[in-house]
Amino acid sequence: LFGRPWIFIRGVPSLKFLPPEGPPEVAFAGRSNVGKSSLINALVGHKGLARTSNTPGRTQELNYFVPEGYSGEGGDLPPMALVDMPGYGYAQAPKEHVDAWTKLVFDYLRGRATLKRVYVLIDSRHGVKKNDDEVLDLLDKAAVSYQIVLTKTDKIKPPAVVKLLAETAEKIKKRPAAYPEIIATSSEKSEGLDDLRAAIAQTVGI
Ligand code: GDP
Repeated sequence: LFGRPWIFIRGVPSLKFLPPEGPPEVAFAGRSNVGKSSLINALVGHKGLARTSNTPGRTQELNYFVPEGYSGEGGDLPPMALVDMPGYGYAQAPKEHVDAWTKLVFDYLRGRATLKRVYVLIDSRHGVKKNDDEVLDLLDKAAVSYQIVLTKTDKIKPPAVVKLLAETAEKIKKRPAAYPEIIATSSEKSEGLDDLRAAIAQTVGI
């Protein structure tokens, strides 16, 4: 699954552009600059797949990625899709932008039967912020299973990672749709990537 190249198949600015429901999919969400593009690129071993960008809050699209080598025709479907959700929490974002994000994401979360889990990325230096909590509320409300993934663990000391894992586990304990286990990753140091790959493979049943 992660041994082969992945390709971008489409950007979805509104739900009518969604690919027909087919293979199981997992989505990635997180505040702008959390390291989402870096993590997706590291996961699939492809540096330029998801764009790493320092102009956050720009693209309001769900970006679909699949493993290469499936035509999509005559039942030759990829075994899964990975969906990069637009980043949130950009401080300068105008209200219309935030509203558009919430609508796109909530409609997607509520309506997508083939969405198996959302990986919510949290920057190790910042922990769960208010706008992360709002997204977790949205996920709980939509009853979509989600799992927390810490990013950039190389930016803090190992004991701080342990502490953050415990604090975050405590914070999500009573959340109905949260998967209790948290995955700690660093794209920079290639840490936790195999754990995340294994979690994804298990989630989509491969
Ligand atoms: P996105 O906006 O969530 O897609 O974030 P990016 O992947 O573009 O990363 C934002 C910034 O964090 C970039 O400057 C990355 O180089 C940096 N970054 C991402 N992942 C890591 C990591 O694991 N460790 C460190 N030290 N920096 C990272």
